[in-house]
Amino acid sequence: MNVAVCVKQIPDPAGELALDPGKHTLVREGKLILDDSDAYGVEMALQLVESAGGGDVILVSMAPHGETSGLRTALAMGAARAVLASDPLLAGSDALGTAKVLAAAVKRVEPDLVIAATESTDGYTGTTPIQLAELLGWPAVSFAKHVEIADGTLKVQRQTEAGYDEVTCPLPAVVTVTAGVVEPRYPSFKGIMAARSKTVEELTVSDLGVDPAQVGEAGARQEVVSVQPADERKAGEIVVDEGDAHERVVAFLEQIKVL
Ligand SMILES: Cc1cc2nc3c(=O)[nH]c(=O)nc-3n(C[C@H](O)[C@H](O)[C@H](O)COP(=O)(O)OP(=O)(O)OC[C@H]3O[C@@H](n4cnc5c(N)ncnc54)[C@H](O)[C@@H]3O)c2cc1C
Repeated sequence: MNVAVCVKQIPDPAGELALDPGKHTLVREGKLILDDSDAYGVEMALQLVESAGGGDVILVSMAPHGETSGLRTALAMGAARAVLASDPLLAGSDALGTAKVLAAAVKRVEPDLVIAATESTDGYTGTTPIQLAELLGWPAVSFAKHVEIADGTLKVQRQTEAGYDEVTCPLPAVVTVTAGVVEPRYPSFKGIMAARSKTVEELTVSDLGVDPAQVGEAGARQEVVSVQPADERKAGEIVVDEGDAHERVVAFLEQIKVL
Protein backbone atom coordinates (compact mmCIF):
# COMPACT_ATOMS: atom_id res chain seq x y z
CA MET A 1 0.00 0.00 0.00
CA ASN A 2 1.37 3.41 -0.97
CA VAL A 3 0.48 6.47 1.08
CA ALA A 4 1.17 10.05 -0.04
CA VAL A 5 1.59 12.65 2.68
CA CYS A 6 1.14 16.36 1.98
CA VAL A 7 4.02 18.07 3.73
CA LYS A 8 4.10 21.84 4.05
CA GLN A 9 7.52 23.43 4.58
CA ILE A 10 7.19 26.62 6.59
CA PRO A 11 9.41 29.39 8.01
CA ASP A 12 10.56 28.38 11.51
CA PRO A 13 7.86 29.80 13.87
CA ALA A 14 10.57 30.19 16.54
CA GLY A 15 12.54 32.54 14.26
CA GLU A 16 11.94 36.06 13.00
CA LEU A 17 8.89 36.13 10.73
CA ALA A 18 8.24 38.90 8.22
CA LEU A 19 5.38 39.88 5.95
CA ASP A 20 5.76 41.19 2.42
CA PRO A 21 4.67 44.83 2.93
CA GLY A 22 2.82 45.02 -0.41
CA LYS A 23 1.11 41.62 -0.49
CA HIS A 24 0.84 40.93 3.27
CA THR A 25 1.94 37.33 2.71
CA LEU A 26 4.62 35.55 4.71
CA VAL A 27 8.18 36.00 3.44
CA ARG A 28 9.53 32.51 2.71
CA GLU A 29 13.06 33.36 1.62
CA GLY A 30 15.20 31.47 4.17
CA LYS A 31 15.32 27.86 5.29
CA LEU A 32 11.92 26.22 5.65
CA ILE A 33 11.20 23.45 8.15
CA LEU A 34 8.72 20.59 8.33
CA ASP A 35 5.44 21.93 9.68
CA ASP A 36 4.88 20.21 13.05
CA SER A 37 1.27 19.56 11.96
CA ASP A 38 2.54 17.32 9.16
CA ALA A 39 4.84 15.23 11.39
CA TYR A 40 1.63 13.50 12.59
CA GLY A 41 0.61 12.64 9.02
CA VAL A 42 4.07 11.27 8.22
CA GLU A 43 4.01 9.09 11.35
CA MET A 44 0.47 7.89 10.62
CA ALA A 45 1.47 6.97 7.05
CA LEU A 46 4.56 5.08 8.24
CA GLN A 47 2.46 3.09 10.72
CA LEU A 48 -0.21 2.26 8.08
CA VAL A 49 2.41 1.07 5.58
CA GLU A 50 4.21 -0.94 8.28
CA SER A 51 1.00 -2.68 9.35
CA ALA A 52 0.03 -3.32 5.70
CA GLY A 53 3.31 -5.22 5.41
CA GLY A 54 4.59 -3.33 2.37
CA GLY A 55 4.47 -0.19 0.29
CA ASP A 56 5.95 3.26 0.46
CA VAL A 57 5.32 6.62 2.07
CA ILE A 58 5.77 9.33 -0.54
CA LEU A 59 5.91 13.01 0.40
CA VAL A 60 4.25 15.67 -1.73
CA SER A 61 5.11 19.32 -1.20
CA MET A 62 4.89 22.70 -2.86
CA ALA A 63 7.53 25.18 -1.74
CA PRO A 64 9.63 28.02 -3.17
CA HIS A 65 13.32 27.92 -4.20
CA GLY A 66 13.54 24.12 -4.43
CA GLU A 67 13.43 23.98 -0.63
CA THR A 68 13.96 20.48 0.78
CA SER A 69 14.98 20.98 4.45
CA GLY A 70 11.54 20.06 5.79
CA LEU A 71 11.27 17.17 3.34
CA ARG A 72 14.64 15.78 4.52
CA THR A 73 13.29 15.70 8.09
CA ALA A 74 10.29 13.64 6.96
CA LEU A 75 12.54 11.41 4.82
CA ALA A 76 14.72 10.87 7.90
CA MET A 77 11.62 9.70 9.78
CA GLY A 78 11.29 6.93 7.17
CA ALA A 79 9.43 8.22 4.09
CA ALA A 80 10.79 6.62 0.90
CA ARG A 81 10.91 9.60 -1.48
CA ALA A 82 9.43 13.01 -2.20
CA VAL A 83 7.86 14.98 -5.00
CA LEU A 84 8.42 18.74 -4.77
CA ALA A 85 6.57 21.29 -6.88
CA SER A 86 8.71 24.40 -7.06
CA ASP A 87 8.58 27.11 -9.68
CA PRO A 88 8.71 30.94 -9.61
CA LEU A 89 5.33 30.81 -11.41
CA LEU A 90 3.79 29.43 -8.17
CA ALA A 91 4.56 32.56 -6.10
CA GLY A 92 1.30 34.14 -4.93
CA SER A 93 -0.71 30.90 -5.12
CA ASP A 94 -3.77 30.88 -2.88
CA ALA A 95 -5.12 27.73 -1.23
CA LEU A 96 -7.02 26.59 -4.35
CA GLY A 97 -3.94 27.13 -6.54
CA THR A 98 -1.90 25.11 -4.04
CA ALA A 99 -4.51 22.32 -4.12
CA LYS A 100 -4.34 22.23 -7.95
CA VAL A 101 -0.58 21.78 -7.86
CA LEU A 102 -0.75 19.14 -5.11
CA ALA A 103 -3.46 17.27 -7.07
CA ALA A 104 -1.20 17.13 -10.15
CA ALA A 105 1.68 15.85 -8.00
CA VAL A 106 -0.52 13.24 -6.27
CA LYS A 107 -1.72 11.94 -9.66
CA ARG A 108 1.90 11.13 -10.59
CA VAL A 109 2.35 9.19 -7.35
CA GLU A 110 -0.92 7.19 -7.68
CA PRO A 111 -1.25 6.44 -3.96
CA ASP A 112 -3.96 4.39 -2.25
CA LEU A 113 -4.39 7.12 0.35
CA VAL A 114 -3.42 10.78 0.83
CA ILE A 115 -2.85 12.11 4.33
CA ALA A 116 -2.67 15.81 5.20
CA ALA A 117 -2.91 17.79 8.42
CA THR A 118 -6.23 19.33 9.40
CA GLU A 119 -4.61 22.76 9.10
CA SER A 120 -1.13 24.15 8.64
CA THR A 121 0.67 26.15 11.34
CA ASP A 122 1.27 29.26 9.23
CA GLY A 123 -1.67 29.76 6.84
CA TYR A 124 -4.18 27.53 8.69
CA THR A 125 -7.12 28.00 6.34
CA GLY A 126 -7.75 24.25 6.71
CA THR A 127 -9.13 24.20 3.16
CA THR A 128 -6.33 22.80 1.01
CA PRO A 129 -6.81 19.03 1.61
CA ILE A 130 -10.56 19.13 0.97
CA GLN A 131 -10.03 21.07 -2.26
CA LEU A 132 -7.37 18.51 -3.18
CA ALA A 133 -9.86 15.64 -2.68
CA GLU A 134 -12.47 17.43 -4.80
CA LEU A 135 -9.95 18.00 -7.61
CA LEU A 136 -8.94 14.33 -7.50
CA GLY A 137 -12.60 13.24 -7.34
CA TRP A 138 -11.86 11.19 -4.20
CA PRO A 139 -13.76 11.09 -0.89
CA ALA A 140 -12.38 13.24 1.94
CA VAL A 141 -12.56 12.49 5.65
CA SER A 142 -11.45 15.34 7.91
CA PHE A 143 -10.45 15.59 11.61
CA ALA A 144 -9.34 11.96 11.92
CA LYS A 145 -8.23 10.98 15.41
CA HIS A 146 -7.75 7.30 14.53
CA VAL A 147 -7.15 5.78 11.09
CA GLU A 148 -6.99 2.17 9.98
CA ILE A 149 -7.34 0.28 6.72
CA ALA A 150 -9.13 -3.05 6.64
CA ASP A 151 -10.04 -5.05 3.52
CA GLY A 152 -9.26 -2.09 1.26
CA THR A 153 -11.57 0.22 3.20
CA LEU A 154 -10.58 3.31 5.16
CA LYS A 155 -11.95 3.35 8.72
CA VAL A 156 -11.70 6.62 10.58
CA GLN A 157 -12.72 7.91 13.97
CA ARG A 158 -13.66 11.49 13.11
CA GLN A 159 -13.35 13.99 15.97
CA THR A 160 -16.54 15.95 16.74
CA GLU A 161 -17.45 18.39 19.50
CA ALA A 162 -19.39 15.66 21.29
CA GLY A 163 -16.97 12.76 20.79
CA TYR A 164 -16.27 11.01 17.50
CA ASP A 165 -18.06 9.55 14.47
CA GLU A 166 -17.02 6.25 12.93
CA VAL A 167 -16.66 6.81 9.18
CA THR A 168 -15.78 4.29 6.48
CA CYS A 169 -15.03 5.06 2.87
CA PRO A 170 -13.48 3.39 -0.17
CA LEU A 171 -9.92 4.02 -1.27
CA PRO A 172 -8.34 6.03 -2.75
CA ALA A 173 -9.27 8.84 -0.39
CA VAL A 174 -7.90 11.93 1.32
CA VAL A 175 -7.84 12.03 5.10
CA THR A 176 -6.82 14.90 7.38
CA VAL A 177 -5.38 14.03 10.77
CA THR A 178 -5.50 16.05 13.97
CA ALA A 179 -2.47 16.86 16.13
CA GLY A 180 -1.87 14.10 18.66
CA VAL A 181 -3.34 11.33 16.47
CA VAL A 182 -0.02 9.50 16.91
CA GLU A 183 3.34 10.30 18.51
CA PRO A 184 5.76 11.29 15.70
CA ARG A 185 9.05 9.39 15.92
CA TYR A 186 12.36 11.25 16.17
CA PRO A 187 14.60 10.67 13.15
CA SER A 188 17.46 8.32 14.10
CA PHE A 189 21.06 9.09 13.11
CA LYS A 190 20.82 6.27 10.57
CA GLY A 191 17.59 7.79 9.24
CA ILE A 192 19.18 11.24 8.90
CA MET A 193 22.12 9.79 6.96
CA ALA A 194 19.81 7.71 4.74
CA ALA A 195 17.59 10.73 4.01
CA ARG A 196 20.50 12.52 2.32
CA SER A 197 20.45 10.10 -0.59
CA LYS A 198 16.69 9.64 -0.93
CA THR A 199 15.10 10.98 -4.12
CA VAL A 200 13.39 14.36 -4.16
CA GLU A 201 11.85 14.79 -7.60
CA GLU A 202 11.57 18.53 -8.29
CA LEU A 203 8.90 19.49 -10.79
CA THR A 204 7.91 22.74 -12.46
CA VAL A 205 4.40 23.87 -13.41
CA SER A 206 5.03 22.63 -16.94
CA ASP A 207 6.37 19.24 -15.73
CA LEU A 208 3.14 18.82 -13.78
CA GLY A 209 0.98 19.77 -16.76
CA VAL A 210 -0.72 22.51 -14.76
CA ASP A 211 -2.10 25.55 -16.59
CA PRO A 212 0.07 28.52 -15.39
CA ALA A 213 -3.00 30.79 -15.60
CA GLN A 214 -4.69 28.68 -12.87
CA VAL A 215 -1.92 28.96 -10.25
CA GLY A 216 0.41 31.55 -8.73
CA GLU A 217 -0.56 35.20 -8.69
CA ALA A 218 -2.20 34.80 -12.12
CA GLY A 219 -4.69 32.22 -10.83
CA ALA A 220 -5.25 33.48 -7.27
CA ARG A 221 -8.88 34.31 -6.48
CA GLN A 222 -7.99 35.48 -3.00
CA GLU A 223 -6.14 38.61 -1.98
CA VAL A 224 -4.86 39.50 1.48
CA VAL A 225 -6.09 43.10 1.79
CA SER A 226 -4.78 43.87 5.29
CA VAL A 227 -3.27 42.25 8.36
CA GLN A 228 -3.53 43.19 12.03
CA PRO A 229 -1.40 42.02 14.97
CA ALA A 230 -3.23 39.51 17.16
CA ASP A 231 -4.43 40.80 20.54
CA GLU A 232 -1.80 40.49 23.27
CA ARG A 233 -2.58 37.71 25.72
CA LYS A 234 -4.02 39.21 28.89
CA ALA A 235 -2.50 38.20 32.24
CA GLY A 236 -4.58 35.58 34.07
CA GLU A 237 -6.20 36.14 37.47
CA ILE A 238 -4.71 34.28 40.42
CA VAL A 239 -7.38 33.15 42.87
CA VAL A 240 -5.97 33.07 46.40
CA ASP A 241 -8.03 30.74 48.58
CA GLU A 242 -9.57 32.55 51.50
CA GLY A 243 -12.22 29.91 51.98
CA ASP A 244 -14.28 30.98 48.95
CA ALA A 245 -11.92 30.03 46.08
CA HIS A 246 -14.21 27.24 44.87
CA GLU A 247 -17.14 29.67 44.60
CA ARG A 248 -15.07 32.20 42.67
CA VAL A 249 -13.75 29.52 40.28
CA VAL A 250 -17.30 28.21 39.67
CA ALA A 251 -18.57 31.80 39.12
CA PHE A 252 -15.75 32.38 36.61
CA LEU A 253 -16.50 29.13 34.73
CA GLU A 254 -20.21 30.08 34.61
CA GLN A 255 -19.31 33.52 33.31
CA ILE A 256 -17.32 32.06 30.39
CA LYS A 257 -20.12 29.49 29.87
CA VAL A 258 -17.98 26.44 30.55
CA LEU A 259 -20.52 25.36 33.20
C1 LIG B 1 -3.27 35.92 -2.16
C2 LIG B 1 -2.39 34.90 -1.53
C3 LIG B 1 -1.04 34.82 -1.92
C4 LIG B 1 -0.22 33.86 -1.35
N1 LIG B 1 1.08 33.81 -1.76
C5 LIG B 1 1.87 32.85 -1.29
C6 LIG B 1 3.21 32.73 -1.75
O1 LIG B 1 3.67 33.50 -2.57
N2 LIG B 1 3.99 31.74 -1.25
C7 LIG B 1 3.50 30.86 -0.33
O2 LIG B 1 4.24 29.94 0.08
N3 LIG B 1 2.25 30.96 0.17
C8 LIG B 1 1.43 31.94 -0.31
N4 LIG B 1 0.16 32.05 0.17
C9 LIG B 1 -0.27 31.13 1.18
C10 LIG B 1 -0.68 29.85 0.53
O3 LIG B 1 -1.67 30.05 -0.40
C11 LIG B 1 -1.21 28.92 1.60
O4 LIG B 1 -0.26 28.76 2.60
C12 LIG B 1 -1.47 27.58 0.99
O5 LIG B 1 -2.43 27.74 0.02
C13 LIG B 1 -1.94 26.55 1.96
O6 LIG B 1 -2.93 27.07 2.74
P1 LIG B 1 -2.86 26.91 4.30
O7 LIG B 1 -1.52 27.23 4.82
O8 LIG B 1 -4.02 27.65 4.82
O9 LIG B 1 -3.01 25.35 4.44
P2 LIG B 1 -4.15 24.49 5.13
O10 LIG B 1 -5.31 24.34 4.22
O11 LIG B 1 -4.39 24.97 6.53
O12 LIG B 1 -3.28 23.17 5.14
C14 LIG B 1 -3.77 21.94 5.59
C15 LIG B 1 -2.76 20.89 5.18
O13 LIG B 1 -2.67 20.82 3.75
C16 LIG B 1 -1.33 20.48 3.38
N5 LIG B 1 -0.70 21.58 2.66
C17 LIG B 1 -1.04 22.88 2.62
N6 LIG B 1 -0.18 23.58 1.87
C18 LIG B 1 0.74 22.70 1.42
C19 LIG B 1 1.90 22.80 0.61
N7 LIG B 1 2.31 23.99 0.12
N8 LIG B 1 2.61 21.69 0.34
C20 LIG B 1 2.21 20.48 0.83
N9 LIG B 1 1.13 20.32 1.63
C21 LIG B 1 0.41 21.42 1.91
C22 LIG B 1 -0.58 20.23 4.68
O14 LIG B 1 -0.73 18.89 5.09
C23 LIG B 1 -1.33 21.17 5.61
O15 LIG B 1 -1.14 20.92 6.98
C24 LIG B 1 -0.71 33.00 -0.36
C25 LIG B 1 -2.03 33.10 0.05
C26 LIG B 1 -2.88 34.02 -0.52
C27 LIG B 1 -4.30 34.10 -0.05
